[in-house]
Amino acid sequence: MAQSEVISSIQLQWDRVLGRLRAEVGEAAYRSWLKPLTLLSSDDSCVRMAVPTRFMRDWVAGNYQDRIQALWQDEVGVSSAVEIVVLPLARPVPKPALVEVGVEAEVPLSGKPESPREEAELPAIAEAPRVAEFQSLSGSLDPRFTFDNFVVGKPNELAYAAARRVAEAENVPFNPLFLYGGVGLGKTHLMHAIAHQIRNVYPQKKVIYLSAEKFMYQFVRALRTKDTMSFKEQFRSVDVLMIDDVQFIGGREATQEEFFHTFNALVDQNRQVVISADKSPSDLAGVEDRMKSRLGWGLVADIHPTTYELRLGILESKAEQLDVIIPQKVIEFLAHKITSNIRELEGALNRIVAHATLVGRAVSLETTQEVLHDLLRANDRRVTIEEIQKKVAEHFNVRISDMHSSRRARAVARPRQIAMYLSKHLTSRSLPEIGRKFGGRDHTTVMHAVKKVEELKSGDVEFSEDIELLRRMLEN
Ligand code: ADP
Ligand code: MG
Repeated sequence: MAQSEVISSIQLQWDRVLGRLRAEVGEAAYRSWLKPLTLLSSDDSCVRMAVPTRFMRDWVAGNYQDRIQALWQDEVGVSSAVEIVVLPLARPVPKPALVEVGVEAEVPLSGKPESPREEAELPAIAEAPRVAEFQSLSGSLDPRFTFDNFVVGKPNELAYAAARRVAEAENVPFNPLFLYGGVGLGKTHLMHAIAHQIRNVYPQKKVIYLSAEKFMYQFVRALRTKDTMSFKEQFRSVDVLMIDDVQFIGGREATQEEFFHTFNALVDQNRQVVISADKSPSDLAGVEDRMKSRLGWGLVADIHPTTYELRLGILESKAEQLDVIIPQKVIEFLAHKITSNIRELEGALNRIVAHATLVGRAVSLETTQEVLHDLLRANDRRVTIEEIQKKVAEHFNVRISDMHSSRRARAVARPRQIAMYLSKHLTSRSLPEIGRKFGGRDHTTVMHAVKKVEELKSGDVEFSEDIELLRRMLEN
């Protein structure tokens, strides 16, 4: 392989690792900690990267090193140490500094790629190492992703119960189990938990867990090495097949076709199939209709966006396992503010803990706000006062202009108060700022509105549920 190809393949692999990390940790944490990593060099025994400060090094080493190592190993197929060095003003070094890892040169696929998207990905597949055999695929289970560590609440109780059933039932209870929900809400956690549990209860069962991307990669490789027979057999001899993030299969006809056959063969033999995706079967883009309908035959369980109660429960359970004391106020603050998903919630907690440990200061509301400055802002940006006003106006069938008007009729004043209340809870705007957005009202008016709504909520279940519904719609 020519030097330049080697370099670009390492860079590509690193980019893919970063891409996966980004999906795992969320945008804010990615930007703060991972994006600044500069790949310096890589050989069989070690991959080296640089960060600009010691604090960052300690932080990345403490929080992400294991994942980086696991993903890197996953990517290059060689177990190598991860070394993070401090290089003030670290910039991407000139590319020739990179050395080759044990990557085999392979003949690229012949034939024209189906779409530009595939065109971009094929070289990466062609350069990937040939180590990941099927058995080792399940080796990448995260030991923390167990049922015991999964906090159950309203948004995920159905998915949880279904996953447990699948893991513990002797015979297939429903086929397939289709789990879907937004990013960072626990789909992968539940799938790994199923695998762990089956290993405990039925160690003789053969379980394969893999991402749809990996499935595609294996398939394309089998095509290239003309070894589709053993590809098929490997998959078709399992007791439980779990494929994560199946939305990535959309638009790739050949892989879809193969997946469909594998899927049908397993279901026909009464083997358990578990699928996850970010959308319901019928909403999967680029997936054939017969496949969509087939995917929905078993049990379709969706994981809803988190509620305050679930976020609180998760934070409390995670905080309990830490050596650092997290004041209840901080936990409530986080549950309130970090509404995007559970991954970000975890990331936030980890950052606070790392900061406290490194700086040697107790965790407080102040340090929390300081440390999570960027994350809090990013979470705020998700919903604006304008959006709240629009949604609330629609919901109560009043005009948006009534949010600013001075009309005091109950029919418009109440929705306006509700919108103020939601603005207070879903954004980080101050009371005076909120007042200004509601036709230049005084902050005491906003305060009064917030109090009023709280009062009504505690006295009227229906009203309270109405507000919860609005909140949930806005948080999405
Ligand atoms: P998804 O696959 O849906 O994007 P993950 O399963 O990767 O999300 O979950 C993201 C993170 O949140 C993981 O670290 C996971 O352990 C954690 N998590 C998700 N749901 C829960 C839960 N109900 N209880 C505890 N931790 C959870
Ligand atoms: Mg996942």
